[in-house]
Amino acid sequence: MSESPKLRPPSRDTIAALVRIVGEEHAITDEADMAPYLTEWRDRYRGKAALVLKPGSTEEVAAILACANAARIAIVPQGGNTGLVGGQIPFESGHEVVVSLERMTHVRDIDLASNTMTVEAGLVLAVAQQVADSAGRLFPLSLASEGSAQIGGVLATNAGGMAVLAYGSARDLALGLEVVMADGRVWHGLRSLRKDNTGYDLKDLFIGSEGTLGIITAAVLRLFPKSVERVTCIAGIKELERAPAFFARVYERAGPMLTAFEILPRLGVEFVLKHGSRTRDPLSTPYPWYLLFEFSSPRESDEPRTIAEGLLGEGIEADEIADAAIAGSLTQTQELWRLRELMSEMQKHEGGSIKHDVSVPVARVPEFIVRANQLVELMIPGARPVPFGHLGDGNIHYNVSQPPGMDKAVFLANWEALNAAVHEIVLDLGGSISAEHGIGRMKRDLLPHAKDAVALELMHKIKASFDPNGILNPGKLL
Ligand code: FAD
Repeated sequence: MSESPKLRPPSRDTIAALVRIVGEEHAITDEADMAPYLTEWRDRYRGKAALVLKPGSTEEVAAILACANAARIAIVPQGGNTGLVGGQIPFESGHEVVVSLERMTHVRDIDLASNTMTVEAGLVLAVAQQVADSAGRLFPLSLASEGSAQIGGVLATNAGGMAVLAYGSARDLALGLEVVMADGRVWHGLRSLRKDNTGYDLKDLFIGSEGTLGIITAAVLRLFPKSVERVTCIAGIKELERAPAFFARVYERAGPMLTAFEILPRLGVEFVLKHGSRTRDPLSTPYPWYLLFEFSSPRESDEPRTIAEGLLGEGIEADEIADAAIAGSLTQTQELWRLRELMSEMQKHEGGSIKHDVSVPVARVPEFIVRANQLVELMIPGARPVPFGHLGDGNIHYNVSQPPGMDKAVFLANWEALNAAVHEIVLDLGGSISAEHGIGRMKRDLLPHAKDAVALELMHKIKASFDPNGILNPGKLL
């Protein structure tokens, strides 16, 4: 990245001032101790930093930003460091300061009448789910990274995950935010109102802004009734083209009871069976594709199971699915979901994997996969596509594993070229080059090509007005 001329490396005095704000025990200056904050789990991005700061309160975050803004120091906000586009990792200059929210984990309020909870940004998503559960409610955001991802991180990336179909993405689950602005002022937007038509929705600007407009320090999150009935189904399909019709049938019948609808390719299932533990082949005969879907209800009732049984019968009769099973126990439910949850991680054992996080209209998912597979075979003969993901919202993780035996580095050298070619297909089908992971560093240079010119100009103006000195996560997103 060429650094903005407005930004400067921090002087010794500035570093000392920043350390004083959080206290020495919450500041890391030693290079080796900083390492976990400077690399991401896939080791795709490695950065350097002048300092890592771990503030314990909104006031400390505000003081850090006021100091950094005055001294023109670049700040990289970081949550659980699970982001997949490199947004949370500093660049290689060593001039940036990482601000980790990990100490800000308080649950400030639970309001059962409003069905909300107010939590600090560093609370881990899985802990937030447990807090809601203990209060007799459901916080439905669910991602494979939920054991590490933090509330601030999932809001900053507008994370999606498994339950978007029924509950929406992170944006739909937040009613209010507290955000520290680039100059250190605090926007007190912790409102729990469902209705508030008082002008521009600032909350929605910060959600999905990937740490470039402000640092989220707390949020009011929506809670839902807990699901007491949960029916998980798996169906084998022979022809991918039939999947959207079956989805339409299921959605029409189950409506809001349908809480997930995922697609898995046989090759990905085989990777999970080979490398993962506590898994089993879901049906007696292998199929090229599987649909994994779930019905939930907050009431004790046979309705979800009756609907599931009826739909599976109808789907087989209409030749949309070839075979199907319903999980008969909690263990079977968990085994089915492990096929999906381990799918990304297990690809690591098969060598290099080139990834895409894209969305297209649901009806065009088969066309997208067929066209992208043909392209891959043309560009890297023998490479193994593993397209999987959230079919119900058109979001496909189009991952491609290397040909067996090929040198990993040689394969990965195709990353940019393959991304560009696959994204061409996505745009041609009216889709998005980033469905849920964001833009970060990885897709920054692709954005001008994929985004409407007017929208992009407005985004630059918003950035300049929120962060005139460009200190917040420079070089990411824009
Ligand atoms: P980080 O990775 O630390 O940061 C992500 C971005 O947010 C960075 O740009 C950072 O600067 C910014 N940021 C972090 N905290 C703040 C804050 N408090 N204020 C302002 N900016 C902040 N994503 C999905 O949407 N759906 C999935 O199903 C999904 N599955 C995943 C599975 C795995 C195994 C992994 C590793 C990741 C997955 N992700 C998924 C990626 C997803 O983006 C992250 O898991 C999560 O949203 C990021 O949270 P985090 O706390 O780790 O943020």
